[in-house]
Amino acid sequence: MGSVTLRYFCYGCLFTSATWSLLLFIYFNLNNEGYTFSNAPYPGSQRVQWRFQPRLTKDPKRLLESQHLGSASDQFMKHMPKMSENKLALSSELGMIFNEVDQQIRNAGYQKHAFNVLISNRLGSSRDVPDTRDPKCKEKSYPINLPSASIIICFYNEALSALLRTVQSVLSRSPVDVLHEIILVDDNSDFTNLKGELEDYIQKSLPRKVRLVRNSVREGLIRGRMIGASHATGDVLVFLDSHCEVNEMWLQPLLAPIKQDRKTVVCPVIDIINADTLIYSSSPIVRGGFNWGLHFKWDPVPASMLNGPEGPTAAIKSPTMAGGLFAMNRNYFNDLGQYDSGMDVWGGENLELSFRIWMCGGRLQIIPCSRVGHIFRKRRPYGSPGGQDTMAHNSLRLTHVWMDEYKLFKFQEQYFALRPELRVQSYGDISERVQLRKRLNCKSFKWYLDNVYPEMQIIGPNERARVQQPLLVNKAVKRPKVLERGRIRHLQTAKCISAQNHPSQKAGIVVVKECDLSDPDQIWVYDEEHELVLANLLCLDMAETRLSDSPRLMKCHGSGGSQQWTLGKNNRIYQVSAGQCLQVVDPADIKGYIAIAICDGSAAQQWQIES
Ligand code: UDP
Ligand code: MN
Repeated sequence: MGSVTLRYFCYGCLFTSATWSLLLFIYFNLNNEGYTFSNAPYPGSQRVQWRFQPRLTKDPKRLLESQHLGSASDQFMKHMPKMSENKLALSSELGMIFNEVDQQIRNAGYQKHAFNVLISNRLGSSRDVPDTRDPKCKEKSYPINLPSASIIICFYNEALSALLRTVQSVLSRSPVDVLHEIILVDDNSDFTNLKGELEDYIQKSLPRKVRLVRNSVREGLIRGRMIGASHATGDVLVFLDSHCEVNEMWLQPLLAPIKQDRKTVVCPVIDIINADTLIYSSSPIVRGGFNWGLHFKWDPVPASMLNGPEGPTAAIKSPTMAGGLFAMNRNYFNDLGQYDSGMDVWGGENLELSFRIWMCGGRLQIIPCSRVGHIFRKRRPYGSPGGQDTMAHNSLRLTHVWMDEYKLFKFQEQYFALRPELRVQSYGDISERVQLRKRLNCKSFKWYLDNVYPEMQIIGPNERARVQQPLLVNKAVKRPKVLERGRIRHLQTAKCISAQNHPSQKAGIVVVKECDLSDPDQIWVYDEEHELVLANLLCLDMAETRLSDSPRLMKCHGSGGSQQWTLGKNNRIYQVSAGQCLQVVDPADIKGYIAIAICDGSAAQQWQIES
């Protein structure tokens, strides 16, 4: 009897120490290079017209805290090498490419979805995200009898893992009693896994309140949302994009103001999920505006609005909404005329709805205590079915219905000057929308500008000056802090990374050359943005769509992605968004070409910064 007890005691000790060893192992691995990167978009960068990416605050505390994988049985795990699941999950190397299959998933993902689908798949259908709310939000309480919510998610050719993560985040972070239903509207997608596999998942793994509606033709997100809304039966409609993750307590703060006043339409703060790394980070509090080209933009919030009795938790009056994410009383949505069904695919509908809300007796607010992450892509991976510019078509409709005299000397003058062909472009029949405006007895566009958006600069009809975009938050471009400075030596050849020509030459490639201790043009700075900057001039950069090209020097953009490098274990330099490691192509070749390749820990991939 005694020996049996002793034996179990020993087993117990063994088990406990094994568990501790495992925990310590994970801890040290994580400290080595986990959680180390931020990805702030370059302030003032205006690459492409996005519907709604706000500028970032540079708050290191707000970095992703726990990017963990979903359950091991998750279907998206099937391409993961088994032994390193935990380590990968907890490190910044979630995007690392181990083999051809990984490479294919990543390439196809960028092509089809314009974000890193390899990482999305590895994250699986759920993960924790950092709670980005102001701490004061946690002290707030909300009424118990909140209106019920119908969440409407339209998708067209979405990555299945991103879509399911959107749904799962809503299911796990919304109170059951107010979450009435989730309606997924498939806008006639082509991808096969959005057919059977999605249906299976919904049937087997999701509660009955998740429903799927399929459009038999591609309608675009505007009519798609109207279709979703027509199936909804909850009190409030909450619209989300199909690549979002909602944050803690996101829903109650949206529903409470609508309960108080059915004509209040509310938007969460849209946090940023980086398209290359899928890191979730906090957005600054900004509000919606627009310019005379009818492009949505973010504006700073007047200080007076933040200093009221409710401080940083107060709702912020917003002249416009970004469009993708908002909540609105369902009957009010219908009474107010839903959307303009003559608008196609994408664009302009957010301003149309914003003007309509304000001009016809409602109001629009941003709720700082509600946060929802959204994957911001650098391009939209789809066109319109007929190849038209739907943004222009939709903007023409909107200006003719809502902008009164301003359409002539503001919008048209600027727009048509740039795009004369639009002068004769037809925009369909708008009589129904004009009728709607009359029926709802809406105020003038001048009233809207005077009362809701007085910040909009008014320029006389004869003035041709372009309206300046005010610079938003983060006015001062602060240089990121330097972490390391020195030459980058390739251990195998003992050569140093240098510009092939001159370090000030944009798009010039880098190669390894003999190290020259007296040459300042070989000095690199590695900074807290995880950029590698040569001679204080340009950043080491990978052409995102051509990973076989040599790394090159480009203007530092401060938004991570192609310029984000991790100095990792085994002396490797890891390109985070490419998922690959820096190596010398042929150590014997005098030309010293450098490339990125699957990380194999070989001698050709070992580097050291020498200060
Ligand atoms: N969408 C859709 N049909 C379309 C185009 C887009 O249902 O024809 C969906 C898309 O899948 C996404 C949402 O509408 O969930 C908004 O589109 P997107 O994210 O491309 O817009 P962005 O965020 O770039 O403004
Ligand atoms: Mn989107």
